[in-house]
Amino acid sequence: MRVLIAEDDPVSRRVLEASLKKWGYDVLVACDGDEAWEVFESGDGPRLAILDWMMPGLDGIEVSRRIRKQSNEDYVYVMILTSRGQKQDLIDAMAAGADDYVTKPFDAGELRVRVRAAQRILDLQDEIIAARESLREQATHDMLTGLLNRPAIIEALQRALDHGEREKSRVGVVMADLDHFKRINDTQGHKAGDTVLRESVRRMRSVLRTYDSIGRYGGEEFLLVLPGCDEDGAIALAERIRCCLGEEPVRLCRNSLEVTASFGVTVVEGCRGQTADSAIMVADEALYLAKERGRNRVERARGEPAGAC
Ligand SMILES: [Mg+2]
Repeated sequence: MRVLIAEDDPVSRRVLEASLKKWGYDVLVACDGDEAWEVFESGDGPRLAILDWMMPGLDGIEVSRRIRKQSNEDYVYVMILTSRGQKQDLIDAMAAGADDYVTKPFDAGELRVRVRAAQRILDLQDEIIAARESLREQATHDMLTGLLNRPAIIEALQRALDHGEREKSRVGVVMADLDHFKRINDTQGHKAGDTVLRESVRRMRSVLRTYDSIGRYGGEEFLLVLPGCDEDGAIALAERIRCCLGEEPVRLCRNSLEVTASFGVTVVEGCRGQTADSAIMVADEALYLAKERGRNRVERARGEPAGAC
């Protein structure tokens, strides 16, 4: 763990630095408050700061206040070091955002356990953040394919539509459905079905542009959001995906399977203020048409056959 020491007294600074290094910490040294603040202002400050109270320029209390004002995801644990030992001093230091308070001359054993306590709190905070991130990931993503799940892709579509309305730009919306997927599950088993889903997703993603979004809308149904795409562009992209899916069979443990998909395409014009639900409904109708007209094809919303691969 990196630790910043800010102390203007050279003797005390050296002793602190030597002790912390001996205990295995990575030490950064500042000779006054201004120097300490520069480190945190750069955005790459350490998670633990041991600040002397009385320093030329900014004092430790002011540096502590400024650290707290920064809205930073990574919590900085602040320890104030001072020869001022009155109760009111402690209250002032804590009120300025300090987490702990050590009086000088410091006792090495005491400082060591206090730094360890700081480390425990910082580790706990990291665990909480990691757990929160993992929950967010689980709440918005489909576990099998790693794609956005249904609520998350609908939200992404609505965001793209709102943005399109503001920017007066179009958004392509594609509903894709793997053909006869139930048959794969029924005859090859669900494990094979999962492999087909994952491989199909990999192929679809390889065709998409970095700013497109794709989500698992249902079992074998996918919703694609293509910002800035006109109808021809959206159809061309759907055709490329269709070709990529059918290009070579998906390899399973013992055999391999031809996989195809049907696509319904619609484009929402920037000015119409359409909702995600209505765009999905139109793309879904086009998809239905593609299924009806023999599958493994792309259909546009008004039902005219789209260009071939
Ligand atoms: Mg001092």
